[in-house]
Amino acid sequence: MTLISPNAPTAELQALDAAHHMHPFTHSADLAKKGARVITRAEGVWLNDSEGERILDGMAGLWCVNIGYGRKELAAAAARQMEELPYYNTFFQTTHVPAIQLSARLAELAPGNLNHVFYASSGSEANDTNIRLARTYWAEKGAPERKVIISRWNAYHGSSVGSGSLGGMKGMHAQGGMPIPDIHHIDQPDWWSEGGDMTPEEFGLERARQLEQAIEEIGPEKVAAFIAEPVQGAGGVIVPPETYWPEIQRIVKKYGILLIADEVICGFGRTGNWFGSQTMGITPDIMTIAKGLSSGYQPIGGSILSDEVAEVIAGTEFNHGYTYSGHPVACAVALENLRILDEEGVVKQVAEETGPYLKEKFEGLAAHPLVGEAKIVGFMGSLALTPDKASRAPFAADAGTVGYICRERCFANNLVMRHVGDRMIISPPLVMSKEEIDTLIDRAWTSLDECHARLKAEGLM
Ligand code: PMP
Repeated sequence: MTLISPNAPTAELQALDAAHHMHPFTHSADLAKKGARVITRAEGVWLNDSEGERILDGMAGLWCVNIGYGRKELAAAAARQMEELPYYNTFFQTTHVPAIQLSARLAELAPGNLNHVFYASSGSEANDTNIRLARTYWAEKGAPERKVIISRWNAYHGSSVGSGSLGGMKGMHAQGGMPIPDIHHIDQPDWWSEGGDMTPEEFGLERARQLEQAIEEIGPEKVAAFIAEPVQGAGGVIVPPETYWPEIQRIVKKYGILLIADEVICGFGRTGNWFGSQTMGITPDIMTIAKGLSSGYQPIGGSILSDEVAEVIAGTEFNHGYTYSGHPVACAVALENLRILDEEGVVKQVAEETGPYLKEKFEGLAAHPLVGEAKIVGFMGSLALTPDKASRAPFAADAGTVGYICRERCFANNLVMRHVGDRMIISPPLVMSKEEIDTLIDRAWTSLDECHARLKAEGLM
């Protein structure tokens, strides 16, 4: 076996990567020409690459490394569990201690009567589970015709055929035969882009009432559930107007349909509470979890069910599960991650100290000539870039052109910020210090300046 050395020149690593590794959500031929940046190690909120650069991670990996990189306790928990019991399934009347402990801990942390966990290895898998759970729930209650799940355009719920269908990304639906039947999408509560002349409050109500209209049009007897992220993440960190969630909650209650809160990003402290549902004041029947559950150190996700939903599902054999449902090593690492988040007061710190500090600094970016709106909840925020703040106009260039330029400037300045269309988004590790927040804001401002200069030079604004 010949393995390339980890210390090989970057160009060689890149060439071998391009030759054999297909990247997710990537135009591979374009990337091959450019070469992927090779990330070699990480500590706290800092990444290192093969060229010796130190990069500030404003995205916590993919919104997941809530606890920051390099926590040896998590590595030790994995090693201990691998030696004790590296794998066993939970299908055939067996269980194991890590799954028992983690489930009980999640029942403690999750709000209200959400007390029952069904595991997966990712958010996508968990949302696939939710499609089957919601429909099985109604079938068991004698209403098998309740199959339709209502979701939102520009939502992200995963990349499998089921979860990608739940999501509202049209570019994804265009490839590979999605959406599956009986998924219906309504519009998103994105006031900046779609609010027109309405106030945010009016617009929030209008968008929430689309749910009621959809239920009436489809027929309430056919609707199983509504799924949404408390704050849309991959869609661009769209913080809904304050009127939105209370109205949604009223409507799901009125029609008795299940509310599924996709907490894959919002969960585990991201919004300053353990769950985004608490921040937004909603009471879901099912929550999707992943990412911050293990801070990304192990692949694990799941669905947390209310007592009522769990009781109905428990009355039948639920023919569903994954080889790695409740994987013992992933559960042990998640438990250790939750212990540290709790004992080190990380969630509280986001709520009371670093969150308010980041909010003040991040909202200050709205003074930049390119930034129309700076919105942030806890440790997830977005900047809407615009050539004209007053009219909230989009750029003349194709959506995403300017965002991409800005993102490239951030990358060149050793700051990871992501762009979604012409929004720039952040979701830093929750352990980011005030000093590191200052660095993030400085680098973001410099990158915005450079982007601005380039747009002017190229006649793009
Ligand atoms: N739901 C939401 C809200 C997400 O943000 C994501 C991932 N970004 C998923 C589901 C899918 O999770 P995974 O990539 O682990 O399948």
